[in-house]
Amino acid sequence: MAAVDFEKGDKTMAFLKSHRLPPSPQNYTLAYIALFDSGSPIGRAIQEIVDEGYRIKQEEVDTIFDRHGGAAIYGLTDKAQGQRAAHLRHQTIKLGELASSAADATGAFARELTQEADHMASDSANTLSIVGRMIEQSQQAQGRLTEAMREVKELREELEAARNDAHRDELTGLANRRAIEVHLAELAEAGEPRVIALCDIDKFKSVNDRYGHSVGDRVLKLVAKTLEDICRPHFIGRWGGEEFIVVMQSDNVEAGVNLLDLARHELARKEFKLRETDEPMGLISFSGGVALAAGGADANAATLKQADQALYRAKSEGRNRILPA
Ligand code: GH3
Ligand code: MG
Ligand code: MG
Repeated sequence: MAAVDFEKGDKTMAFLKSHRLPPSPQNYTLAYIALFDSGSPIGRAIQEIVDEGYRIKQEEVDTIFDRHGGAAIYGLTDKAQGQRAAHLRHQTIKLGELASSAADATGAFARELTQEADHMASDSANTLSIVGRMIEQSQQAQGRLTEAMREVKELREELEAARNDAHRDELTGLANRRAIEVHLAELAEAGEPRVIALCDIDKFKSVNDRYGHSVGDRVLKLVAKTLEDICRPHFIGRWGGEEFIVVMQSDNVEAGVNLLDLARHELARKEFKLRETDEPMGLISFSGGVALAAGGADANAATLKQADQALYRAKSEGRNRILPA
């Protein structure tokens, strides 16, 4: 039998103690990941906070837990999502049943009242009891409806959040490749012209090589933020690695080139410094290629290829520039 690794448990508890976090299942799990799976998204998110000697706070742990789909850590995967979807469907059915039984009840009371109408004047005690029961039952139905609606609302929000995660790039929060492809297909289907800009950070590998991957990740986030600051409300996504995409609903390639140039200049204005030493990291730049897609879904692939070719030219002509296809 394999030896039980108590040492890891001790280290995890020591981590929690040094950060003054109570050893709840959530905190313990995250601390364990931070210590022994530091390359994972959760591990990196925690290390980013603690690696400069900061004490991580409970709110920060909670945020990381939520942002990284904490439920998934406990092994709740697609199956759990499927169960939630089934639960939602069942709740909706129940809601419908409740509404119709409420309607039935009202109908029954209406009939009862009509039948009793003749006697009402002479028999007010009976009338009072009918009305009393009617009020009581409708209050009960109301309570059950309110409770069911609250549950449906909660489940809907949960599902929506899970769906968003599936379409979002974890590091930058931008649309991921899947979401980009869906967006492009939707525009094609709607017959909207679209200008596609592909951008690729210049010599990014050397950032990783010189300063390490966590600094590289920080640079990726800053490039994403710069694109968001300058190019919103256009659609922005992370195409993969150190490549980003901006999709503009327009047929003006020149305007697309100009917008990306603006983002490039904005990035050049930022002084990237190493947090630890304040050492400047030098210029961070990107190159880009911009192309127009005007046809149906087939045009997307062809346009992406054209944008990529223009990007390649931008690289070979010296980088740090945006070129039209
Ligand atoms: P070029 O100017 O020709 O684009 O050079 P480059 O170094 O940017 O291009 P290359 O394709 O050689 O290297 C891209 C690097 O991006 C390699 C890979 O390790 C790094 N990278 C991809 N995704 C991530 C990520 O999520 N985080 C970090 N830190 N690095 C990443
Ligand atoms: Mg690349
Ligand atoms: Mg690159």
